[in-house]
Amino acid sequence: MVLSSPMYSDVTVERAVGEACNQTSDVNEERVARVVGEACIRLHLAEERVCPFGLSLLWPSEACALLVGRSCGRFDIYAPWNVTLPRIPKPPVTPPTPPKPGAPQSKVLFLTDIHWDQEYAVGSSADCKDPLCCRNESGPPSWRQRGAGFWGSYSKCDLPLRTVENMLENAARTGPWDWVYWTGDIPAHNVWSQTRKQQLSELTVITRLIHSHLGNLKVYPAIGNHESTPVNSFPPPFVHGNRSSRWLYDTMAEEWAPWLPEQALKTLRHGGFYTVEVQPGLRVVSLNMNFCARENYWLMVNSTDPANQLQWLIHILQASEEKGERVHIIGHIPPGLCLSSWSWNYYHIVNRYEGTITGQFFGHTHMDEFQMFYDEATMTRAVGVAFIAPSVTTYVNLNPGYRVYLVDGNYKGSSRFVLDHETYILNLTEANRQPEGVSSLTFLRDDRVFQRFWYLRHKGHVSEPCIDACKTTVVCSLRSGRYDELQQCDLLFRGDMVAAVRKTLC
Ligand SMILES: [Zn+2]
Ligand SMILES: [Zn+2]
Repeated sequence: MVLSSPMYSDVTVERAVGEACNQTSDVNEERVARVVGEACIRLHLAEERVCPFGLSLLWPSEACALLVGRSCGRFDIYAPWNVTLPRIPKPPVTPPTPPKPGAPQSKVLFLTDIHWDQEYAVGSSADCKDPLCCRNESGPPSWRQRGAGFWGSYSKCDLPLRTVENMLENAARTGPWDWVYWTGDIPAHNVWSQTRKQQLSELTVITRLIHSHLGNLKVYPAIGNHESTPVNSFPPPFVHGNRSSRWLYDTMAEEWAPWLPEQALKTLRHGGFYTVEVQPGLRVVSLNMNFCARENYWLMVNSTDPANQLQWLIHILQASEEKGERVHIIGHIPPGLCLSSWSWNYYHIVNRYEGTITGQFFGHTHMDEFQMFYDEATMTRAVGVAFIAPSVTTYVNLNPGYRVYLVDGNYKGSSRFVLDHETYILNLTEANRQPEGVSSLTFLRDDRVFQRFWYLRHKGHVSEPCIDACKTTVVCSLRSGRYDELQQCDLLFRGDMVAAVRKTLC
């Protein structure tokens, strides 16, 4: 996320926005946008021309709520709500057992956060003041600075197309794959200068590039927070007309039609989510996680199960449970980063359908990590894990990479669990690739394993070692598949340690 809003402290700005909000005419839309822009500059969040980044499209009440809180506009983004589970009792839990030796496996290619920068310019400044560098407008590097590299740069830069193509060529050679999950964030981080036309052309170019490199393989995409403009702006289906997401979902449905059946395209056009049977016995559900995100200002109007997506998910899971079908869930933003109510409801669903959901796959953080889910009654028995795969892009300060999941295969009675995974990294310095993996997850007992994880989390390019409070914070977040304010830390550590972690995070 770029330019999140630490603006609450500026009293003058709050007053100005408050005044703008108290008048209701459409003219104020302009005025609020201007005030937001000024606030951005005053607080030195970014260069002047980067600041407004599309906030002018917000309604005054929304911008108000963003800046001054509950006193202005409707503000129900934090209001609690509950989904309804069917009255059918949860089937008895059977502990997972590893598949028989030699049982078939599926190889799943996983791509996320490509972030292609059309204006990437070799030799331009990699250390500019804007949120995104390595472009002509970043200017030339000064004598001390680095210039943007040919394949990419260790800095706040996205990727030139050649690196995306090279990655796809490499992935095609590393196959064969059984199918592909692709969890979004196609455009670059130049969120202040994006247009709908550009976003759509990037969506089209990258979709066709994937298609041409991977042939007739089925690719199951999910929508990232950068697909829209303004970034993170995903109006739920109650918004109609030009403000709606129709411009985006319609093009997605056209471009993704070779991969998805008509019924899936229908829900994609409606709310940006869908379900497809991958093979007999395995179904994928692609969620639009933008409906869980606090950065999606539209949820200030109404944040209760946007587009009825979670209620729809329950319906799909119940039908799968009755058929004995297993379900993989894919999405962009990991559930532990969602608005509290959304994430608690999702956690509840994962608990109820733990026998059916046998894989959860996300991206967005650009890091190689995961989030754990525990049984709600005792919070001690693990019921699931959301894998978070590293990004294709270098943003920020990373090697490019992609992920492979080895999944219990296509045979009768298969668990469809993830058995192992590999990450392929393009070492920008050495420009070679190597598969890597962490053998066991015993971070707390063995610091070497944790430090190995820390290294791989950053795809082989770390700036500092992670010890003490940093380590505690990371382990806590890995244990939090739900937005629950570090309750998992209380179970792990006592008193002063928790205080130390809270201090680090706040
Ligand atoms: Zn991203
Ligand atoms: Zn993202």
